[in-house]
Amino acid sequence: MAPQWDRLVTEQPDLAAIFEGAEPAGPVEFLRSAAGLLEGYFAVEDPTRLEPAERESLISAVVDEELLIRGYLDRLDVAPDGALRVVDYKTGGAPREAFEARALFQLKFYALVLWRTRGVVPRVLRLLYLRDAEVLDYTPDADELVRFERTVVALWRAIEQATARQDFRPRPSRLCDWCSHQALCPTFGGTPPPFPVALAGADPLRDARSAPVTPGADE
Ligand code: SF4
Repeated sequence: MAPQWDRLVTEQPDLAAIFEGAEPAGPVEFLRSAAGLLEGYFAVEDPTRLEPAERESLISAVVDEELLIRGYLDRLDVAPDGALRVVDYKTGGAPREAFEARALFQLKFYALVLWRTRGVVPRVLRLLYLRDAEVLDYTPDADELVRFERTVVALWRAIEQATARQDFRPRPSRLCDWCSHQALCPTFGGTPPPFPVALAGADPLRDARSAPVTPGADE
């Protein structure tokens, strides 16, 4: 880790700025935690035995004729017979069963895009939990992706309707403890900023070029 970090900072000096204002031990802690994740990676995979076809690949597709969805794949493996394996690295711990579906939502999203653009349903969707050195493999099928596509379109319609009604309600959860918008949130007695009126009348679902839908931020 240390030599690679030194090389990166030499090549991209602005990287060092991520530790501005941090404790003096910040970089050391960062490298230590990253080394732990790397150990988790080597515990579950031998990188000398695989050659990823793509990394950090931007993929996109139009579903329901006009809704553009897109996302970045961490890694795509392609077997000699053409089978696809989508791999997503997670730096957090492996989720309990109740949260697995949420984690898989993102991978099904990628599977749908690949199926629509390359005509192949990925054989494996793999979540690789680096901290716990755990692998979760899932095999989707075409029927499931058709249902998933309907879910994505319904979700977008719901967002579209909420936008038209200017109705975005807070949804308090344990995540509020980490939220930096508490001062604007009604749950905490705050007042949201004015709704951006120019966007209220737009019909983004029907303008694929201006309404990309991407899965949730990487965790
Ligand atoms: S505090 Fe943040 S996370 Fe919690 S409900 Fe409000 S906006 Fe959502």
